[in-house]
Amino acid sequence: MGCTAETKRCVYWNEQGYERPECCTEILKDCLFLARELLNSLGVKWWVSYGTLLGAYRHEGTFIPWDTDCDVSFLYDDIPRIMELRDKVQSRGFVMSFHDKDSKGYPGLIKISRSDKNTQHCDLWPWKVQRGFWPWQWGRKWMFRPHPSPPLKKEKGARTRYFPASFIQQMEAIQLYSVEFPCPSPVRDFLVWGYGKDFMTPSRWRR
Ligand SMILES: [Zn+2]
Repeated sequence: MGCTAETKRCVYWNEQGYERPECCTEILKDCLFLARELLNSLGVKWWVSYGTLLGAYRHEGTFIPWDTDCDVSFLYDDIPRIMELRDKVQSRGFVMSFHDKDSKGYPGLIKISRSDKNTQHCDLWPWKVQRGFWPWQWGRKWMFRPHPSPPLKKEKGARTRYFPASFIQQMEAIQLYSVEFPCPSPVRDFLVWGYGKDFMTPSRWRR
């Protein structure tokens, strides 16, 4: 017996060394594939990111076995178009929600959840291009997660919240469950940027 769209999600992450049950993998796939279909239909720039990208690369086209959600990214300026997908998402029996809105009413995070009951989801992260982060990088373009505001000092995981814009100038494709997804390029360098040179060695606190 696993979870379905009509039940609550499984709670499986409390034990050491846990792995995600098959039912939850299937539901995450449903959320991610719907995000893919709808973002492609808009023709906007988007890409798989965070653990989802790491899984696609390191775990050979699957999710990280202990990951609990999936992540894609898109450009801040496309937020209004993506917000308009809400009815379509609803008509497919999923739920789209907006979180951490700024003064413009633009969310810092959009979620596509499987249902009101089963809250497994795909996170959609907006990114904004900015110039100059540190003085010696002045003039170079950087992508930031626009809010909460970018980290200004070195902290754990900070590099997953900003990166050189050149990584998404031209996308490449990566497979997840035998389906192609757009990702930053060169993807290996991007993963080194975000997770360090030893990113191929799984680390549960980091992913
Ligand atoms: Zn489940």
